[in-house]
Amino acid sequence: MMTTRPALILHGGAGARRERNYDAEVVHMRQVVEAMKARLDEGASALDVAVEAVVMLEDSGLYVAGRGGSPNLDGDYELDASLMDGATSRAGAVAALQGFKNPVRAARAVMERTPHVMLVGEGARRLAQAEGLDAITDPEAWFTRAGKGEDNHPPGTLSHGTVGCCVLDPQGRLAAATSTAGVFGKMPGRAGDTPIPAAGTWADEHAAVSCTGQGEYFIRVAAAARTALGVAAGQSLQAAAQATIDRIGQLGGDGGLIGVDRHGNLTHPYNSQGMKRAWLTSEGEIGVRVFND
Ligand code: ASP
Repeated sequence: MMTTRPALILHGGAGARRERNYDAEVVHMRQVVEAMKARLDEGASALDVAVEAVVMLEDSGLYVAGRGGSPNLDGDYELDASLMDGATSRAGAVAALQGFKNPVRAARAVMERTPHVMLVGEGARRLAQAEGLDAITDPEAWFTRAGKGEDNHPPGTLSHGTVGCCVLDPQGRLAAATSTAGVFGKMPGRAGDTPIPAAGTWADEHAAVSCTGQGEYFIRVAAAARTALGVAAGQSLQAAAQATIDRIGQLGGDGGLIGVDRHGNLTHPYNSQGMKRAWLTSEGEIGVRVFND
């Protein structure tokens, strides 16, 4: 069997603000990469590693996803997630899920246990319950509202946070997963790009991509698929990713994306102030960054 040197990249959202300190996130992102490097060394699949990384990010309470989520305008926590397996082109997603700790696990259940790609609201909740996923019994005690300090924008400006991970495993398989509580002060029922394969998440045989930013813009340019299809058409991963972020900027949106291609090349462009991100190169080097300077 052919083996490839694995590579991985994750993000903790492109809503980073210069005035805030991200020491805890930097330490945590490195821990996640180290843990996932060990999993890849054990032979775990790209899909398993992408999901496990996102679960660690969700459970940390440090990012605006899973435990770190913020409520909508009604005070409810509606969480979104999606994932895609590049080897099979299968995808799963949940939107506006309430009451469960790990939306990414619910998205995986949609992919593996139903004939559907996306379940929303009550239907997503019922599947998570039927699958025995970890429920939240006391939301006020569970959620940490990690976005404090990143949400100090005028209402309507769509400030935000998300987590995601893209993986190339030793068998050459690619996978991506993304999870979020969405933009701050969102309307009840609002879903952004995160739960939409092609917009917020994509993986095929060429590249895996996970986006973070003002989801309304990422949906309108099909950001994740657009990037991977650029690679399929012969662009470098970096050029395709930068072109996607440039297009979002032209439309007035902000955010970033992470990606890995089948050769293990990594990319992490953004046009916001910063983007929390960490990676493992195919040479085995680990990197962590929030800002570019
Ligand atoms: N893209 C997410 C959304 O629009 C937010 C984020 O990535 O920060 O829901």
